[in-house]
Parts: sequence; structure tokens; C-alpha cells
Amino acid sequence: MADFTYNVDADGVAIITWDAEGKSMNVLTRESFGLVEKFIDQALTDDAVKGVVITSGKKDFAGGMDLNTLATIREESGDNPAQGLFDFTMKGHETLRKLERAGMDDKNKGGKPIACAINGTCAGIGTEIALACHRRFMTDNPKAKIGLPEILVGIFPGGGGTVRYSRMVGLLQASPVLLEGRMMDPKKAKGAQLVDEVVEADNLVAAAREWVLSATDKDIVKPWDQKGFKFPGGAPYHPAGFMNFVGASAMVNGKTQGVYPAAKALLSVIYEGSQVPFDTALKIEARWFTNVLMNPSSSAMIRSLFINKQALEKGAVRPQGVDDQSVKKVGVLGAGMMGAGIALVSALAGIEVVLLDQKQDAADKGKAYTTAHLDKGISRKKVTEEKKEQVLSLITATTDYAALKGCDLIVEAVFEDPSIKATVTKAVEEVVGEDCIFATNTSTLPISELAKASKRPEQFIGIHFFSPVDKMLLVEIIKGAETGDRATAKALDYVRQIRKTPIVVNDARFFYANRCIIPYINEGIRMVAEGVEPALIENAAKLVGMPLGPLQLVDETSVDLGVKIAKATKAAMGDDYPDDAVDEVLFWMFDQERLGRKSNAGFYDYDDKGKRIEIWKGLADQYPVADEQPDLIDVQHRLLFAQTLEAVRALEEGVLMDIREGDVGAILGWGFAPWSGGPLSWLDIIGAEYATERCDQLTDAFGERFATPALLRDMAAKGEKFYERFATEAADAA
Ligand code: NAD
Repeated sequence: MADFTYNVDADGVAIITWDAEGKSMNVLTRESFGLVEKFIDQALTDDAVKGVVITSGKKDFAGGMDLNTLATIREESGDNPAQGLFDFTMKGHETLRKLERAGMDDKNKGGKPIACAINGTCAGIGTEIALACHRRFMTDNPKAKIGLPEILVGIFPGGGGTVRYSRMVGLLQASPVLLEGRMMDPKKAKGAQLVDEVVEADNLVAAAREWVLSATDKDIVKPWDQKGFKFPGGAPYHPAGFMNFVGASAMVNGKTQGVYPAAKALLSVIYEGSQVPFDTALKIEARWFTNVLMNPSSSAMIRSLFINKQALEKGAVRPQGVDDQSVKKVGVLGAGMMGAGIALVSALAGIEVVLLDQKQDAADKGKAYTTAHLDKGISRKKVTEEKKEQVLSLITATTDYAALKGCDLIVEAVFEDPSIKATVTKAVEEVVGEDCIFATNTSTLPISELAKASKRPEQFIGIHFFSPVDKMLLVEIIKGAETGDRATAKALDYVRQIRKTPIVVNDARFFYANRCIIPYINEGIRMVAEGVEPALIENAAKLVGMPLGPLQLVDETSVDLGVKIAKATKAAMGDDYPDDAVDEVLFWMFDQERLGRKSNAGFYDYDDKGKRIEIWKGLADQYPVADEQPDLIDVQHRLLFAQTLEAVRALEEGVLMDIREGDVGAILGWGFAPWSGGPLSWLDIIGAEYATERCDQLTDAFGERFATPALLRDMAAKGEKFYERFATEAADAA
């Protein structure tokens, strides 16, 4: 069996069915793309064939391109990978153009109608094949989504999708689909012209066939192949188009700060392509696509945000030989901010939840969080009343420990206090079964210490959620010294059920994510004390792709939390504590009662409605801005190395066990410059040798916290990269 099959029915309609061998989802490979061409040729040259319907033999239509194909082509192309990638892309254009022209002559006569019957979710090259067809029919299943999400993994639609779709709807309308990568349900997709007709699933192929049999020459000519075609909404030098292109350029640069090569390249494809004939525009698309694929940022993003993220979600680090540990009933202790969110995501995944707090009204308030979430969904027409009732019926809000009976997992989210946590651990173990796994959501307390309160430390583990729980995609699983494989497997299976991405790390102060983000915040605060202009600190961070500047991050997480963590860390580290200079600023802010967003006053000023306005002017009275300011790049390197060196140390110390987790965790956990593919990918991009050189300079200028870790120095000496030295099979495939 091949990935595509070809059958001609009694009426002369050729049905090309996509059903990738041995895969649950259709993804396009170079070989299967060859088959598409072969079957199109066959249909166009066979006089008995009147037209074609392309559909899928699977539940969904297509997931996109097999990204490993691009890696293979690159490897096969020896010392000229750009040429190999460009030729492959142009070959794709040729195939889809042949499909689109369908045998028409110069006068647009004599072609054969080709329809696409999209029976489920359709993304990437699947959508691009559909766009090349003459008419698109999609099943009316609202769960099926269609779109071009390439931009989200650092590339853009390079199979003609950018040129075709922008010429169909114009730049403005194309933006949500191309620049934001938005996937749409069939109804919305029809509004956006991604599909032409939405029909019942049972009738899908029949409707497409019927159309093929009745279509005329006129029905199958694309607007850009007709005389007098005008770019919808105006090309760049048209008065209306001028406004759109200027606006889009500003928007892209505003959103990406210029660090995402794909977004800029995509805009260039549309801008340049709109001014030339269609086939030239495809060539321009192929050139920019190659340019983006050759950019190390794109391959790093694909590796972390697509290949490795998926591998982790599919259980790449799950202990082997442990049977399925899916959770049926979870007990959530503490119905505060975190507990309420954990109950919500668990119930949404169909898991029965017991939400326990000290007082019934606190437990009820925690459950009300789920009610509010579902009500919001109802007002947006995304949730039905029945669904709301069903999800709410899964949550029992209580103060009674007896209700925890039958739980196979406990997630504890009470106050961050070891003695309270120990008390609840003991109380839980009185009522739950012997095989129940106990997880703590602590953000700072060592798991191995907390496990001492348990009778079964091998069943004790950390499951660290990020706030807000329903929005944040990462969950950090922390193994204590005695945590066993079943507990790890349970945590991983639970995270899979609630559809988040897991990383598994070993127990050490602040685990992984907080360990890296705290030095970033501290470096920002340290610079304030040194007299660096706060706006420079904040903008330097954003210009290098961090979602929030360090000072804004303090305001969001609150100054008092920072003070609490600083005091606890100093108490634990004693004389080795390195952050007194940071604390001076932080504690002073605390004394000024500028606690951040929650008090409407922090490093920033806020208006009455809580909108962030500008850096608080009073900061400069206490910490005057120095006359001489550092270079942008120096500020950026201090902020980036503060995080990446911590990631390297975590790897050296065995806290991180897999570099993939270090990179994926950094992007999903605290938004580390996604364009870079993560801190370790960033070091690979700049090279260990240069990184070492910079660290030595930063150490001389600013202190030992920038000292080059031995691992990095060794890699510099050997000319190694992280993704070579620590390559695993999956990481290697990228
Ligand atoms: P919170 O103060 O909002 O909620 C804690 C809840 O626990 C309260 O409702 C309280 O009544 C309840 N509680 C306290 N003692 C209890 C007991 N003995 N029995 C039952 N319930 C009890 O706190 P939070 O922000 O939800 O944090 C909870 C835990 O999650 C902490 O360990 C914290 O470090 C951790 N955490 C917090 C964040 C965050 O951003 N807030 C992120 C990750 C982890």
C-alpha cells in the first residue's frame, strides 16, 4: 500500500485518497508528494477521467509536512543545502501548479475540475494542497480545524499557501491565518474563504463529486490566471494597499521585535509577490522559504516547539515497563489559586476531582473558578450547558478527608509551609489506598524533605504547575531522592491526560524553571541599582525575544513574593548568598509598599483600572540613572546568560536529565526567547567558544555569577554543540 491511492469511478471521477502508511495522521513526505504528481498526471492524460476528488482515508485530512523530510533534504544536499531546499520547494510548486492549471490551455479552456473533500482537521501542506484545488468541501464537524499554523514553529507556509491565500483574500484578511497561524472550525473557515462549502460528513465526497461533474471551464480558473487580476485590498503601491502594508509591517515588527525571521519573511513574500505574476511570486516564496529554513533560529524552533515538544508529550522520558497509570480520581488539597486551577484542568480532562480546603466556603470558592471558566465558554459559544453540568458534576468541594477515599492521585497545593504540608500528607495517607501517588505542587521546598512526612516516599513526587494553571502549557515533574518509577509514570500519564507538556527533573533548589528565571529577574534588578536606565533594561529584554522585561515580571509575580523567596534562600545559603545587591532594591520597594500589579504600584505606575503606564519616576530618586549607559548588547547578554548558565549548571548537576527538556521547558515555562529554540539551542547558535569568551568578559566586569561552567568550557575546547554532545535519537532527528 502507498500513501495515496487512485481509483476512477463509473462516472469518470478519479478519487485520490490520502492514507499514509503506518501513521495515524497524514503527513506528506517527498515520496508521497511524488505520488500526488503521478496521479494528477494520470488523471489529466486519461480521456475517460472527467475530474478529480482528493480526500483522506483517515479520520483527519492532514497534519502537514513531515518535518524530518526537510532535515533529510538538507543532509542530502551536501555543502549546498540551500540549493537542495530551494529545488525541493520549487518541485512542490510545480506539482501544485500542475494540479491548479489542470490541463487548461492559454485561454483557460479544457481543464479538469479538481475538488478537495476535507473530512477532518487539515493543516500545513494539507491546506496548501486544498488551496491549489478548484473547490474545497469540508465536513461540518466543529472539532475539525483547518489552517496554516507554520508560523508557530518558526517557518511559514512554503507550499504556495502564502502566495495563494494572500491573493485570494488580500493582506488584511490573510493576516490571522498566515501571521497568527490561527486554526479555524469549518464554519469560520468558510467565512475566511479557506473552504467553499461545509457539508455533512456522510455527504462530503458525494458533494465534491457532484460539483466535479457539473463544473464548467469558468468554475476552475483561479482569479490570478485571469486577465486584469488585482490584488484584493490593494497591492503595496495602491493607496489602500499602501496603508495595509505599512500597518502590517508595523504590526509584525511590534509583535516580534524583529527576532522572528519567519514573520518578516512571510510579509516580504506577500509584499514582493503581489507586484509580479503568479509564477514569479511562487519563486519568491520558495526563495524566502529557503532563507528561513537556512536560518538557525527556524531549525531550533522546529526542533524544540514541534519535534521535541511532541516527543515529550508522547512519553519520551517515561520510565519503561510501567503499565498505564491514567488517573481516575484526583484529590486536590487546597482550593486556592493553584488548587482551583488544578481542579479545573483535571475535570475538563474527565477526571473525577475531590477539592479539599479547611473551610467549606474556601472549597466552594475553588470550585466556583471552574464554574466561571465554563460560563465564559458559554458566553463565547464554546461550551454548552450540558458540558458545564457534566464537568461540574465531576468536582466535589469538601472539607472532609474521607471523601479522598478511592483517589489514585493526590495533588497538594496548600500554603507553602513545610509543617502544614507534612500535616496534610499524614492526614491523607490515613484515608487513601496504599497505591495512591502523592504529589506536591510546591514551588520552592525540596521534594525529598517533604517526602519525609510520607510513609511511602517512593510514591511521593513533585508536580509543579505554573500560574495560571489553565493557560500555562508546561508542568515540571520533580523526582525526590526516593521517588520511584511508578510515581514518575503516574505524573506523566496525568500530565498527558490534562494535555500539557511535561518535563522531568531531579530535586534541587528551585528545580529547573524557577532556578533559571530568578537570576533573570535578579540581573534586571541589579542593573537598576547600578544606574542602568530601567527602560533600557526592559526594552533590551523584549528586543531579544523575552515576553516580559525583568522589572515587569517582578510586578506581575509581586515584590512581596520576591522578598519571601530572597529571605528563605538567604536563610538556607548563609554566607554563600550572592544577591544582597538585589535585595537592597527589592526590600526598599517592599518598604515603599510598591508590591507590583496587585497593589497598582511597583517598578511601573498603573492607572485606576490597573493598566500599566510607565516606569515609576520615584525609582530614579533612589537609584539615579547613570550618565553613561551600557550598550544594548551588553544588557541583553547579561539577561540571557543569567538564564542560560543556570540551565547549563542544571544539566551539569544532573537536575536536568535531557537537553530537550531544558529547551522545551524554558520556552513553555517562562517564555525564554522562543526564536532561539531555548537556552541550550541559543548556546549552540552562538557557539560554545564565543559563549565562553563572553562569559569570561562578563565575569571580569560583573562577577562570578557569569563564570563559565566547566561543561561549556570543555565543549568550547572540543568545538562541540549541545545537540551533538547530548544527542538522543529524537533530538538527533531534528
Ligand atoms: P493560596 O494561598 O492561593 O491557596 C492555598 C490554599 O490552601 C488556601 O485556600 C488555603 O485555605 C488552603 N489550605 C491551607 N492550609 C490547608 C490545610 N491544612 N488543609 C487544606 N487546605 C489548606 O496559594 P497558591 O498560590 O494556590 O499556592 C499553593 C501552593 O502552590 C504553594 O505550595 C505554592 O508555593 C505553590 N505554587 C504557587 C504558584 C503561584 O504562582 N501562586 C505556582 C506554582 C506553585
